[in-house]
Amino acid sequence: MYGNGNQPIIVLKEGTNRAKDKEAQFNNIDAAKAIADAVRSTLGPKGMDKMLVNSIGDVVITNDGVTILKELDVTHPAAKMVIEVAKTQDNECGDGTTTSVILSGELLKQSEELINANVHPTIITNGYNMAAAKAAEILDDISVDATDDKMLRLVADTSLTGKDVGDAADQEMLSKLVVEAVKTVAEDGRVDTDNIRMTKKIGGVIGDTTLMKGLIIDKELVHSRMPAQVKNAKIALFNCGLEVKKTEIDAQIQINDAARMNDFLAEEEAGMKKLVDHIKSCGATVVFTTKAMDELIQHYLTKAGIMGFRRLKESDIMALAKATGGTVVSDVKDLVPENLGTAGLVEEKKVGDDNMCFVTECPNAKAVTMFIRGGTEHVIEEVERALNDAIRTVGITLEDGKVCAGAGAPEIELETRLLKYAATVGGREQLAIEKFAKAMECIPWTLAENAGLDPIDVIIKLKAAHENKKNGKYFGVSLEDGEPFDALKAKVIEPLRVKKQAVSSAAEVANMILRIDDVIAARQAPPGAGAGPGAGMPPADD
Ligand code: ADP
Ligand code: MG
Repeated sequence: MYGNGNQPIIVLKEGTNRAKDKEAQFNNIDAAKAIADAVRSTLGPKGMDKMLVNSIGDVVITNDGVTILKELDVTHPAAKMVIEVAKTQDNECGDGTTTSVILSGELLKQSEELINANVHPTIITNGYNMAAAKAAEILDDISVDATDDKMLRLVADTSLTGKDVGDAADQEMLSKLVVEAVKTVAEDGRVDTDNIRMTKKIGGVIGDTTLMKGLIIDKELVHSRMPAQVKNAKIALFNCGLEVKKTEIDAQIQINDAARMNDFLAEEEAGMKKLVDHIKSCGATVVFTTKAMDELIQHYLTKAGIMGFRRLKESDIMALAKATGGTVVSDVKDLVPENLGTAGLVEEKKVGDDNMCFVTECPNAKAVTMFIRGGTEHVIEEVERALNDAIRTVGITLEDGKVCAGAGAPEIELETRLLKYAATVGGREQLAIEKFAKAMECIPWTLAENAGLDPIDVIIKLKAAHENKKNGKYFGVSLEDGEPFDALKAKVIEPLRVKKQAVSSAAEVANMILRIDDVIAARQAPPGAGAGPGAGMPPADD
């Protein structure tokens, strides 16, 4: 970067922003802390909801960390890195997103003092790496086995607590459904939660939510005189329209006399009839298609006693194929009997004011659907998000067979043991490990704060319980009175994987951000500026 005589050569375009060393570090740390602050108040069962309004005015009300962060329009690169942590946490575990983000922010906050004291970032990241590795060991050590349904239900229950999922009875019912759903799709100890579909319908109350073996398609019969129910259904699946193909080019046909006109219509009619005859000859008794269905086709299907549903979502057709063992066909003429799927029962039923299609007794017994009901769109959407989290947490618990106590218990245990570990390490890394340990406190602290309790008081009591009580390692904070309680006995239970992932990915992003000592940013064009020459330049004076 230096030419002769140590004259710096400027290689960056004018207008480029550059922040170096501490300035860069503190700027990044502030951004990460800001993201943590954005979700802090939602942590735990006493956390508040957020109302998010996007640029086109859509409103989402949620308590779910990752949902909030996905909606935020963030430009700061370090802030984006923290949001990535939440997304990773969500992908890996489906829960613990708020925790991972708060921990990331806190690890960085704790590092500030060290940076100010001129501890080199490499020392800090080394210490953080050592602490993270030790933390994983400690978490393994304080985990407990979870293999029975009762434990799985408690995990579901903890995950649902604090989400807007109705009253205690609703929550208990949903926990039960979640465990049932997960166990149904489990195969050789693995859980593919994609097999659990969610179908939402506004109306009724949360308590009307059910788990159904099979699929629900939010479509009604194309013709009211079609049978409302078919047993031992043979199902044709099309991702094309059911109509006679009009000529590709917009041809005009001149028809001069009525007889020619009739011929023409008759020909078209015959074509449609032929299509339906073909479907019938293959043995289909139910037809689903992603596109349109000509009226005449509907008529012939009705005459043939075949159920017909049109304009299905692509994902619905794919799910039907999987559940019924059918093959999706993109041209009616290509249909052969082997392509048909089967189901013990296909029926149209009235739900609220609408009719929906229920496909049950499918050959693939792994196809299950949560049928979510609730008074408004906001309610069912939050229920769906909460159920998704719960399904994922129960899924990973079933896979791993390991849980740990919640309510801040593992974090305080981590702090206590990491401090002891730090003392054995010595050197300057010790300082970083101590900061890492201290950062763990932010979880019970925030839980307490969100419950309107005095966090300092809560932390002091928790630490004492961890040192002195029998089974102290399981002691978390009761958010009712701020007193320490055995979180396992109090049934606040989380999958081990959620905690491990949250701690490790928070450490990872904190380290990544700490390693940055130079931020070189091209100047951003002002909104609305074109990309042509001079874009982003201030307007000329004349
Ligand atoms: P995250 O997005 O991190 O999962 P949550 O809002 O779901 O955030 O809060 C999870 C935290 O709340 C965990 O630390 C969990 O142990 C704690 N928690 C859940 N239920 C209770 C409870 N009944 N009492 C105290 N803490 C609880
Ligand atoms: Mg959660």
